[in-house]
Amino acid sequence: MKHLFWLALLLTGCASEPREFQRRLYVFGTLVEIQAYTNDEQAFSRAMRELQTRFRQMHTQWHAWKGNGQLRRINAAFARGECAPVDATLRAMLEQAAELERATGGLFNPAIGRLVALWGFHTDDFPIEAPPPEDAAVRALVEQRPSLADLRFPPGHVCSDNPAVAVDLGGFAKGVAVDEALALLARHGISDVMVNAGGDLRVAGSHGQRHWRIAIRHPGEGTPLATIEARDGEAVFTSGNYYRYLAHAGKRYAHILDPRTGYPVEEIQSATVIASTGALADAAATALVVAGTGRWLQVARGLGVREVMLVTEDGTVYLTPEMKLRLRYLNPPAKEKVRRL
Ligand code: AMP
Ligand code: MG
Repeated sequence: MKHLFWLALLLTGCASEPREFQRRLYVFGTLVEIQAYTNDEQAFSRAMRELQTRFRQMHTQWHAWKGNGQLRRINAAFARGECAPVDATLRAMLEQAAELERATGGLFNPAIGRLVALWGFHTDDFPIEAPPPEDAAVRALVEQRPSLADLRFPPGHVCSDNPAVAVDLGGFAKGVAVDEALALLARHGISDVMVNAGGDLRVAGSHGQRHWRIAIRHPGEGTPLATIEARDGEAVFTSGNYYRYLAHAGKRYAHILDPRTGYPVEEIQSATVIASTGALADAAATALVVAGTGRWLQVARGLGVREVMLVTEDGTVYLTPEMKLRLRYLNPPAKEKVRRL
């Protein structure tokens, strides 16, 4: 009898050893890999079912161009000079995005949806093979100065004082989605987990005795540039022009636009940021690509992010000392410039 007791204890002990579980889900056309380190497989499965439903809702509600969700209805109403209903979650997102727009001096600007559509970057099929838009059309949209600062929120609604505002959350929604995914997983007791949306990710806790280890893609090359050990709560996001672009007459146009000119960014291949939330990291990475080597430190300071890296068109790596401490190069760059914030 006594032996049986010990045997039972041993077996349950073994069954409750944490191990890695993985699941893949889609959101915003991106494959999201969820890796959890847990001993509660059932809780993980329940969380995954709920997350799948939530990702589907986000996709329809926050997509600027597909389906007939909230954001599409909002943009249609703005174009008619009308207000539209908005739920509390999307309102909070728009308010946070407006703050980030301000903090980046307008380099991150999700109100430029009309420019995104003019360039054709609202598609899921890249690369785009078409001529770029007419310069006059680009300039006409820039001159209307769309900004999230034009938004007002009467109870339950959102209005725009500027009919040229079309909200495109393509540079931000993934970050918010990753944050929400971690919060949902935590409610199910899954607190050691990584949510990785195609290289943009956030982690919670650890992978057993070690940190979550992730790879940073090398823009233009298939191989990773470096690895980072992500600590509890950290988000790591990279923006770049190496997959989504328009190609015409031997020239490449990146899908990230400089809101001041309406033209795609040219100097920067990619920007990587480590930040305390996915939302901040996502907005920061997009803004830093626009900021370029001339303004990146100023934008990083404005956003309060310290771990930042840029890769320029010629492959030079610019990074802060804080970022350098976190990187382990797999593929050391030919030129590296460390700059203090
Ligand atoms: P990301 O990959 O996070 O840098 O987001 C790029 C996407 O954000 C583009 O495909 C556009 O939908 C949108 N976008 C482009 N330029 C900007 C910008 N300057 N500010 C905010 N969103 C932008
Ligand atoms: Mg972004």
